[in-house]
Amino acid sequence: MTLAGEHQESGGATTPAAATEASAQPRRWVRPRSAPPQLDFPLVRNGLDYLASVVEHLDETESMVTHRDVKYAVLHLQAAVEVLLKARLMAEHWSLVFSDPHKATRKTLDEATLSSVSTEQAVTRLQNIAGVPITQKEGKALKNLTEDRNKLQHFGLTAPAPVIEARAGEVLDFLIRFIDDELLPRLGQEEKTEGEASLSKLRGGLASINTFVRERTNRIRGEVTREGAENRTIQCPECEQMALVLGESTGPAGELVRAACRFCAGRWEPEELLAYFLPEGQEEPSGLNACPQCGEWALGWGVRVLSDPMEEVAFCFACSVAFPSVAPCDRCGRPIDATGGTDLCGSCWEDAVEDPSDYGYSEDQW
Ligand SMILES: [Zn+2]
Ligand SMILES: [Zn+2]
Ligand SMILES: [Zn+2]
Repeated sequence: MTLAGEHQESGGATTPAAATEASAQPRRWVRPRSAPPQLDFPLVRNGLDYLASVVEHLDETESMVTHRDVKYAVLHLQAAVEVLLKARLMAEHWSLVFSDPHKATRKTLDEATLSSVSTEQAVTRLQNIAGVPITQKEGKALKNLTEDRNKLQHFGLTAPAPVIEARAGEVLDFLIRFIDDELLPRLGQEEKTEGEASLSKLRGGLASINTFVRERTNRIRGEVTREGAENRTIQCPECEQMALVLGESTGPAGELVRAACRFCAGRWEPEELLAYFLPEGQEEPSGLNACPQCGEWALGWGVRVLSDPMEEVAFCFACSVAFPSVAPCDRCGRPIDATGGTDLCGSCWEDAVEDPSDYGYSEDQW
């Protein structure tokens, strides 16, 4: 993480006190102990400016979103994240913006030559030290964004634009709340008014970005429903949208497609997909993944299917059928019909009847 972005508008002053007191007295960090934590407003303003650029790039009401738009949206969104999280950390204590606070010195901070906190570290410090509520989902969205940015810088755009747009929407959503709850209340009246005005524009922009993501999702759902494919459309492991349609179809070049996500355009072989839905610790499909219908070792667990998206069910990636009433045997993990009122498969049940003391205790059956 660099500090470069922070100085575009702050005139090189990293700390508010240093900026305002520079003319009156020697450049020294003097702040009365009783002063309330103040935010570095140039930092916040800079972050808001980056966000305004993100919204401009992603707003489809103005013009079509191009690859170039997506690229700059990601870069500026990541810059905004870095700057705004740091502004809040600074309010807690300036040493927290150093990757290693033990090595913090005023000199390196003022000269902006420090090795700066990473986004992941910033999130942890905000949660643990500043008590800022950041959910696991939000933390993950921030992490994905950092990855998108890194990939973008090295390889160009690796995920399709709609996916990045949807992810950017999540981060933007988080940042708007973060600015509202964590940053604006720490500003003076005048700065606060300016901040609120920028924020309300951002809210408008976010609404239209979300609308486009939602419209796309709705359009896909409409198509899938018309095709009668809701019960073989699952949540995509790549983009997390309920848009991955299983079942053979023909691609634009006449090629055979066995699984394709309509949201991120990702294509899969059913075997690759199954790997995402094996129980923890299981590396390869085995007899435990035998499909009750086709018998193939292709049954995955914990799959979300569009026809009933709130449930996680067993799904066969060979015959593309969901089995909502199939559960793993409590003891051996083999698929069984869970409507039968038992948690054990036939052979585990027999074992349990033969030796009741054994049930639930023996490890060597596994
Ligand atoms: Zn997808
Ligand atoms: Zn099957
Ligand atoms: Zn069993």
